[in-house]
Amino acid sequence: MTREGTEDEWMARAACKGLTHLFFPTPAERPQARERREATAREVCAACSVRSLCRDFARDQHEYGFWGGESEDERHAAGYRLIAPIGVRARTAS
Ligand code: SF4
Repeated sequence: MTREGTEDEWMARAACKGLTHLFFPTPAERPQARERREATAREVCAACSVRSLCRDFARDQHEYGFWGGESEDERHAAGYRLIAPIGVRARTAS
């Protein structure tokens, strides 16, 4: 049973069930692998009926990983700051 209007309700309709490996990086993931993984995740999100709810949740909760068709970098750039987003940290290091 899900609670209507809560995260439980929309998460129950997620198109990414069973695909967690596409939405979160493995340790020491290479940039090229990340691009490929996120491109596939983006395709899954594009067909998901709860995409906007998911994106808003991730923005509000400062989540890591790929949510609602949006990468950590994209959320960060939209003003929803993460403490240490992987892509932004890598680009600003050195
Ligand atoms: S928008 Fe993407 S990450 Fe969010 S529930 Fe749907 S498939 Fe999963």
